[in-house]
Amino acid sequence: MRQFVFPLALSALAFSPVAAQRPDSLTETVRRYVSVDTSVVALTHVLLVDGTGAEPRPDQTVIIRDGRIAEVGSAAQVKVPGGAVTMDLNGHTLIPGLVGMHDHLFYTAAGGRAVQMSYTGPRLYLASGVTTIRTAGSRSTYAEINLRNNIDLGRVPGPRIHLTAPYITGAEGGGSMDVVTSPDEARRFVAYWASEGVTWIKAYTDIRRSELGAAIKEAHRRGIKVTGHLCSVSFREAVELGIDNLEHGMLTASDFDPAKQPDVCPVGQVGRNNAIDPTGEVAKSTIAIMVKHGVPMTSTLAVYEPFVANRPTREPRVLSAMAPEVRESYLKLRQEIDSSGSGPIAERGLRGAMAFERSFVAAGGLLASGVDPTGIGGALAGYGDQRNYELFIEAGFTPAQAVRIMTANGAKILGVDGKLGTVERGKLADLVVLRGDLTADPTVIRNTTTVFKDGVGYDSSKLIASVEGRVGID
Ligand SMILES: [Zn+2]
Repeated sequence: MRQFVFPLALSALAFSPVAAQRPDSLTETVRRYVSVDTSVVALTHVLLVDGTGAEPRPDQTVIIRDGRIAEVGSAAQVKVPGGAVTMDLNGHTLIPGLVGMHDHLFYTAAGGRAVQMSYTGPRLYLASGVTTIRTAGSRSTYAEINLRNNIDLGRVPGPRIHLTAPYITGAEGGGSMDVVTSPDEARRFVAYWASEGVTWIKAYTDIRRSELGAAIKEAHRRGIKVTGHLCSVSFREAVELGIDNLEHGMLTASDFDPAKQPDVCPVGQVGRNNAIDPTGEVAKSTIAIMVKHGVPMTSTLAVYEPFVANRPTREPRVLSAMAPEVRESYLKLRQEIDSSGSGPIAERGLRGAMAFERSFVAAGGLLASGVDPTGIGGALAGYGDQRNYELFIEAGFTPAQAVRIMTANGAKILGVDGKLGTVERGKLADLVVLRGDLTADPTVIRNTTTVFKDGVGYDSSKLIASVEGRVGID
């Protein structure tokens, strides 16, 4: 059992993922991206969307001290302490660091590519204002454990990482996932990965109810949680089994298929789900049972959009971050989807998914979000999280609601909402400075200038420059 032994320093870190990281602990590799490293910082005259759902407030002052938020209020309420470095943020918006709940550290793309993103992933997430991620399923889990440790030790720039085990699925699945065909196997899997320090298990589309139920029980016994991108098990069934979170929303819910057989993922489900009535009886009862049992949902609209014809999916900064071959095969596939007039996901399906999420929130459901940097590769780490914001606004959420979904709600699901996720006194200073008025123009979410993690300010443009042309390589 020697492989379970962690060096003492690392195992201590593993249990304190929300301690403030101080600038003097950062190596040169990280410091080259740091633009603000003083212990007291005053952000003044900023438009604040604080993540609580409260109305945006203009002309606010936020004081950061030793990695935490010391004061928040109007210019009249908050005095700038002597010795503070002041950043006049007139014309800027301040939001909490984003909590990306479906933010893998691998990338899959057109042309069958799949690559671990140990280099570009953490840089792009942090540059885009994502200061906390849950990996929501892994392929190279030890690469992710090591990356998490290196970020926590100040050796690599990146977000806080909540680790997820490799995926578990059923006999029809495979690839890089563990195929579990008995409850015993499911328990053994969960026990092993819990002992390695992961805090989430990810169940996938072919798992059966018996194995999912066993995995959930074992996870809860060990104090960790389970989420799922499901199909063979419906949302309703998973809720009844005690699942802690459901990924992707309406387009993956098999509750809507009248011909569905137990434990089997119906062929062509996503295509048929394009035609779901998001306000119908099945939608209502599915939402009702999730809300009743307090099961949150993770929205991943940004990964669906590139499958839909004639959507804005050729953002220049996305294309320039891609490696040339990845860009070429992505653009070719996008061209095919556009010229077909209707891609694998219909405009109607995307709109249905949006409406389902609005109804879920209106019914009292806890909605979070994440990019899911997979599919045909158009939703990149970080950039896709930002695109989610724009899609939430298109879906009809207010700026305050959308920011809350992307920050505080994720923190709540992760159980760290007492420490981060909102701009409130005493929280860790994870803050994103955006050039422009986010409430007037949703694309302002892309204009990250400085991203604070633990009160250390990172220069977004330097992080972005370091990954140009590398997404799809490492
Ligand atoms: Zn995923």
